Amino acid sequence: MEDEGITKEQIFQMLRKYKEKDLTHRSGRILGSMCTCPDPVGVKAYSMFLESNLGDPGLFPGTKKLEDEVISMLGELMGKKDVYGHIITGGTEANLMAMRAARNLTKIDDPEIIVPRSAHFSFKKAAEMLCLDLKMADLDEDYKMDVSSVEDLLSDKTVAIVGVAGTTELGKIDPISDLSRICLENDIYLHVDAAFGGYSIPFLKDVGYDLPEFDFSLPGVSSITIDPHKMGLAPIPTGGILFRERKYLEVMAIETPYLTEDLQSTVVGTRTGAATAATWALLKYHGREGYQEVSKKCMEITNILADGVKKAGFELVTRPELNIVAFSSSEIPVEEIALRLEDRGWAVSLASYPKAIRIIVMPHLKLEHIEAFIDDLRQI
Ligand code: PLP
Repeated sequence: MEDEGITKEQIFQMLRKYKEKDLTHRSGRILGSMCTCPDPVGVKAYSMFLESNLGDPGLFPGTKKLEDEVISMLGELMGKKDVYGHIITGGTEANLMAMRAARNLTKIDDPEIIVPRSAHFSFKKAAEMLCLDLKMADLDEDYKMDVSSVEDLLSDKTVAIVGVAGTTELGKIDPISDLSRICLENDIYLHVDAAFGGYSIPFLKDVGYDLPEFDFSLPGVSSITIDPHKMGLAPIPTGGILFRERKYLEVMAIETPYLTEDLQSTVVGTRTGAATAATWALLKYHGREGYQEVSKKCMEITNILADGVKKAGFELVTRPELNIVAFSSSEIPVEEIALRLEDRGWAVSLASYPKAIRIIVMPHLKLEHIEAFIDDLRQI
């Protein structure tokens, strides 16, 4: 740090130089991210609540009321209005909280959790931090969690089973109703990671897509991760964790000696209220119909992309269930395809299982971007 400060003009000029090096979702060139352009309504709401700290809610009762309303709206979207939870930083923190609740609920030594092989890497972090033994269930031929593999892995040390509604790499929805049955029969905690799918599956079902049950309407589901900063169009970082019962928050509550709340269940202490305000504003602004439109458009473009990929001579890994297209080629290794696309200005990402190029058709991608992409794909 210099001894003397510099002018505001100098600072913003310098910041612009750094910013110019970044990619922007607006360019339509980012094809491999689950983030998107934040909706301006959410950005405005976010900036109104920059000083609100939900880690000390007694000082910000208005923001706390907003959080309660958001949790209730998200709960209703997930099939149960009276749920308990928080707006936090994202899917990783939500999954960590769910695993912590599941572990604390039991007094089992050497606890184990069962996740599908397709689970997000946040469960590896959670397992390491919480000293859980991570058991990976196999996937079936459609890359969904194989129920018989889950049954094989069940033991008297299992404290939680995780199913994913919208897998990170392929957008698949695990057989959550089977997992719900298994968990009820064995009195085991079931967490559904709908970080990606939570903001699209219900809306797609509304407009006629045939997608499976995955939420609190299934009696075995104990908690759900749902991320407003993915398909919810909220600014990052904005995640959501919902619990069926208050006891799941209570089993991980820690006393807070000097704050306006006596107990705190979240991982972080100081917690922005801005993310809550943005989520609240966007749920009110778009309403169910607005979000139906967002998800429907993404799926329409997804299907156009999937057909274009096939026509360009590549092989789809699987027919898209949500707005992710994964493909490969029998002639060109996927790393080479990614390099060639990068040379043409496309930022794609790679799926690891199976190895493939992975395109997430987020709301910032318009038809013209996808058509330009398919053109380039044909040429390579
Ligand atoms: N869960 C799923 C299914 C995800 O796809 C992701 C991220 O892509 C996460 C959790 C982690 O979310 P975050 O990066 O917001 O922590």
